[in-house]
Amino acid sequence: MTIAGEDARHLARVLRAQPGDRITATDGRGNLYEVVLTIVTPETVRGEVLAAGPDRAEPPLKITLFQSILKGEKMDWVLQKGTEVGITAFVPFLSARTIARPAPNQYAKKQERWQSIVTAAAKQSGRGLIPPVHPVTPWPAVPPMLTDQFTLVAWEGETTRSLRQALSQREQLSAVQLVIGPEGGFASEEVSALVRQGALSVSLGPRILRAETAGPLAAGLLLYHYDALEPAPSTFASNGR
Ligand code: SAH
Repeated sequence: MTIAGEDARHLARVLRAQPGDRITATDGRGNLYEVVLTIVTPETVRGEVLAAGPDRAEPPLKITLFQSILKGEKMDWVLQKGTEVGITAFVPFLSARTIARPAPNQYAKKQERWQSIVTAAAKQSGRGLIPPVHPVTPWPAVPPMLTDQFTLVAWEGETTRSLRQALSQREQLSAVQLVIGPEGGFASEEVSALVRQGALSVSLGPRILRAETAGPLAAGLLLYHYDALEPAPSTFASNGR
């Protein structure tokens, strides 16, 4: 296995890794490798794979968070905290009341910046999967993008169905799409369009949450509900770093 770029520099310069050291590496796609290092330079680190296995930090419930873009640091916060909690993918979108509206020629740059926030958060929290941040999606494309996975739209105007009630219809769940609105909330037609595509609108309780609170909170509640917050034994018996 070869490790290049920033990770090689970090191993050589910051962690002062030496040939013979054992490390745990990830391919960013949910697999972990136990590796014994053979060559260490700041440009390239090489090693032999001793064992490979699935990363137990990856939750069995895959959550895709559709998040209407939030202003400034709030979006960064959702991406960082959402990654720590265990979200599997992010779809940033624009809806009628989105305040932060980057110009279309900024979409790619935004996506890149958000991806680097998620990548750093994934590494920091010991995840073997780096959740992808999808391209910025303008509203009309959002409802048709929903797959036939179970979908929840958090709507403060929902006065009857709680999250718990929505989940009680599903004893087991392996994937869910979660849709969260911008600071100003969803327009009611937007909620209807999502519901027509099969989404269930749910309340997250009697208090209005800040837009940046709703996604990470709901993700944590979903993982808890489906028993995906239990501690897991590490993939390899020996401890790497
Ligand atoms: N329009 C509201 C606030 C929107 S909160 C107002 O200004 O009063 C931003 C987003 O967080 C909402 O679009 C929704 O997705 C989610 N949200 C916040 N509080 C919620 C609640 N109690 N129930 C469900 N969703 C909520």
